[in-house]
Amino acid sequence: VIVFYPGYSLVHLIKILPSENQNVARLKKQLKDLKLATVCQEARCPNLGECWGGADDSLATATIMLMGDTCTRGCKFCSVKTARAPPPLDPMEPENTSTAVASWGVEYIVLTSVDRDDLPDGGADHLRKTVQLMKLKKPELLIECLLPDFAGDKMSIEKLATSGLDVYAHNIETVERLTPWVRDPRAKYRQSLEALHYAKEVSPKLITKTSIMLGLGESDDEIKQCLADLRANNVDVVTFGQYMQPTKRHLLVKEWVTPEKFDAWAEYSRKLGFLYVASGPLVRSSYKAGEFYLKNVLR
Ligand code: SF4
Ligand code: SF4
Repeated sequence: VIVFYPGYSLVHLIKILPSENQNVARLKKQLKDLKLATVCQEARCPNLGECWGGADDSLATATIMLMGDTCTRGCKFCSVKTARAPPPLDPMEPENTSTAVASWGVEYIVLTSVDRDDLPDGGADHLRKTVQLMKLKKPELLIECLLPDFAGDKMSIEKLATSGLDVYAHNIETVERLTPWVRDPRAKYRQSLEALHYAKEVSPKLITKTSIMLGLGESDDEIKQCLADLRANNVDVVTFGQYMQPTKRHLLVKEWVTPEKFDAWAEYSRKLGFLYVASGPLVRSSYKAGEFYLKNVLR
């Protein structure tokens, strides 16, 4: 994957090309054998070489997708398949995924999922079971879950907040004004803030985390308001990345935000009191999450 990005030199472009070091090759083989899907591969993420390679063996980060590859929602920035009624959940997934992850040398894992509005609990029981089995099989494993809003259902949020996970992530994605235009109509700005707030309220030790895409037409004042809203709801970690149009059918990029501006947002956010900030054109919610958290937040 070659990404041409305004303001980036050729040296940087070469640096982000996926590299095939030993960790990458080993993880690829294990994932294939176990038939596990990763966002990293499905989305052809340009950071794969860096994340899977890790700074050393234990810091490799991969994002495992749970509950299938088909979402019940249709956000206008996202290329994941959508359907009203995706195939049923695989009841063996919690067992198989936890066995696989426990057998790896990784200390940090990111779990994510599609939204399953077709299920009464949005899949909360299934996800909770997966986290619990992972902690049972490998208690020292640190787990980050990128979770749906569960349509605001507090019982589902609580099931995950108390599952034993370490980082409760839910993406606000964009500023309030653009939310109805960018996200599926069922995803609401205030509902996302409330989900993050409630997770922390139920389990104060959790680290809560969110991500914002830049380049969709948001103003600086709107970003500042969004950051203030996040801090007011006790969100600990924020990441900023550039929105990139996945296909011609998706929203157009309104602005290519400069690397300097990403740095400025990181600085601004740190001053607001976020525990950790990752900000850059290619930063994604899970970008090298293990390195960030193991080194800076959790240890
Ligand atoms: Fe994509 Fe998530 Fe929106 Fe589903 S809810 S369409 S997976 S961004
Ligand atoms: Fe995978 Fe996220 Fe890293 Fe991309 S940024 S390779 S999706 S862990």
